[in-house]
Amino acid sequence: MHPDDMTAAERVLLHDAAHVWHPYTQHHDAPLPVPVVRASGSWLYAVDGRPILDAISSWWVTTHGHCRPEITEAIATQAAQLDQVIFAGFTHEPAAQLAAALVGHLPRGLSRIFYSDNGSTAVEVALKLSLQSFANRGTPRRLVAALEHAYHGDTFGAMAAGARGVFTHMYEPLLFEVARLPDPSEGDTLAALDALIDARGAELAAVIVEPLVLGAGGMRTWDESVLRGIRARTAAAGVHLIADEVMTGFGRTGPLFACERAEVRPDLLCMSKGLTGGVLPLGATAATEAIFDAFRSGDRTKTFFHGHSYTANPIACAAALASLDLFDEQSEDDRIRLEVAQARQLDALRGVPGVRAVRQIGTMGAVELAAPAGYLSDVGRELAAYALQEGVLIRPLGPVAYCLPPYCTTDEEIAQVYDVLQRFLEGARATPLTTGGPIDD
Ligand SMILES: *Cc1c(COP(=O)(O)O)cnc(C)c1O
Repeated sequence: MHPDDMTAAERVLLHDAAHVWHPYTQHHDAPLPVPVVRASGSWLYAVDGRPILDAISSWWVTTHGHCRPEITEAIATQAAQLDQVIFAGFTHEPAAQLAAALVGHLPRGLSRIFYSDNGSTAVEVALKLSLQSFANRGTPRRLVAALEHAYHGDTFGAMAAGARGVFTHMYEPLLFEVARLPDPSEGDTLAALDALIDARGAELAAVIVEPLVLGAGGMRTWDESVLRGIRARTAAAGVHLIADEVMTGFGRTGPLFACERAEVRPDLLCMSKGLTGGVLPLGATAATEAIFDAFRSGDRTKTFFHGHSYTANPIACAAALASLDLFDEQSEDDRIRLEVAQARQLDALRGVPGVRAVRQIGTMGAVELAAPAGYLSDVGRELAAYALQEGVLIRPLGPVAYCLPPYCTTDEEIAQVYDVLQRFLEGARATPLTTGGPIDD
């Protein structure tokens, strides 16, 4: 068939199949991707008009809901005014205003914003700022510590900090050494950190953590007291604490940042995903003035030689400003309502056959299914396929299904997500099984 004679959906799928390489996708046997033409609130609409409930905020980015007019209008206005400008030697209102606004919302002590494009680059920047700040002071430290089951992104530095596994294993010889601390959801992180500081404290530049929930590692929630303990020990040893809030930031765990739940003030904090409300790519790394000062010098070699072509893109910054404005009392109420609605659903699943554990923090609810652990487990894939057939987008992490919805999601929509899960637990499956659905492996 000639492309002119095809339906819009057929044309998309033809060109996609011929020329597109999708992320986290095994093209050998991946099911056909779903062509999406429009989104609104918590819903995606496929080209055939089919509504799909976006229960994972489109890979954890959508905060208020899809296509919020306040954000799309800010984007249109900014795009017509100033689309892009080099950010070395130049500045603009959206970037300056956003930096000031973020500093106003961030844990106290974080006063400098370095912009980049995504979560991985926000992490790379944090790692490099920490390491170079020690070098610039003439007291080089080169060791970074990170948690077991951590995920910090897919670029090399971020991969090095992340846990080793199927995502990273073929690059392993190329990744720099990282001291690994036990996952606080299952081990004694603080004892291990004490031992590490005793043994190698003078080498240790930074400890990087995903505060209070290890996201991609399986939505493993962990205790505020451990985060406070890590902060106390790193502060005493002159070691930086890097909070990777790429997933937890912008209300996901309740308050704007997860660090606030523990009243912890990190030295560096990474933001991306929800920064623009989930509409445009933007990353930002917040640093203390002490770290910034380590780079101020008459010696030009102490400069932070790092930047991206689209650093502080004005349109993305305008979207982020519009998104920040939407974190009002209504949004707070929505997040509390979502927390309560999910808690109720999760309670009902405790002890149900097929459920190994349930976990929750703020607006995120997770259900660990009783299936062989490990990333390539099929139960998550089967659940994703069934859910998609039933009009719900979820994307289990191995056997861990989770609901991480936009904040506009209603209690009825939450019930719809958990109803699908309930039916799956009772034995319902997609027909045929192989139509597939998204899963992270
Ligand atoms: C998603 C994620 C990243 C990586 O962000 P990208 O924008 O996908 O590069 C880093 N850290 C955490 C905690 C994340 O969840």
